[in-house]
Amino acid sequence: MDKAKQGRVVVIAGPSGVGKGTVIGALKKLRDFRVSVSHTTRGIRPSETKDVSYHFVTREQFRALVDEGLMLETTCYQGNYYGTSRTAVEDALALGEDVFLDIEVEGAKNVRRAFPDAVEFFLLPPSMEELERRLRDRNSGEDEPTIQGRLAQARAEIACAPGFDYIVVNGTVAQTAAEIDACLKAHALRAGERAPLVERLLAGENITL
Ligand code: 5GP
Repeated sequence: MDKAKQGRVVVIAGPSGVGKGTVIGALKKLRDFRVSVSHTTRGIRPSETKDVSYHFVTREQFRALVDEGLMLETTCYQGNYYGTSRTAVEDALALGEDVFLDIEVEGAKNVRRAFPDAVEFFLLPPSMEELERRLRDRNSGEDEPTIQGRLAQARAEIACAPGFDYIVVNGTVAQTAAEIDACLKAHALRAGERAPLVERLLAGENITL
């Protein structure tokens, strides 16, 4: 089978507040994929919807999911636990669908271990001032120490960006989504992905079909 038709794991990482969720929403207009809904122990924000934004769980429930081996990766971020369900990802891949994960840097590293072919993007803000503005504007009701904690963590995360496959500056959402879409199209055309196509051509098939 042409590898380009297999589902891929696509990671969208970047500091909290950079706009990962908004970019993923814009990408939905450009291509078909699933988005993995993470589990978290943090409280729900007014703008969020249960089981759409996250599966909101207690610490005990989270611990039970981990103990049962149901999580692909987990992290503790600013005192709250976050994690990706193994089946959510594996079910999508089994159906040949791409699955997008909106996760932080440590999670991205763990996903890379589990799925070496994952395509990993890091979104940068246009400036640190703009990141702070976006963090404050999203009306999450977070107190000043939490915002400051997220900004400090953002600097540490941004320093990890060079380890990713692609770095995209999230200036305008439409442009960022278009750039990620273009990267994914080019990624699927890499020669290493297309050896089966060559075999099919040499076996006499019309490979434009
Ligand atoms: P927030 O509280 O702003 O929704 O998320 C905080 C950070 O946790 C963000 O960088 C977000 O991408 C990340 N995150 C959300 N879900 C997961 C997850 O399942 N695993 C990991 N590793 N990070 C996550």
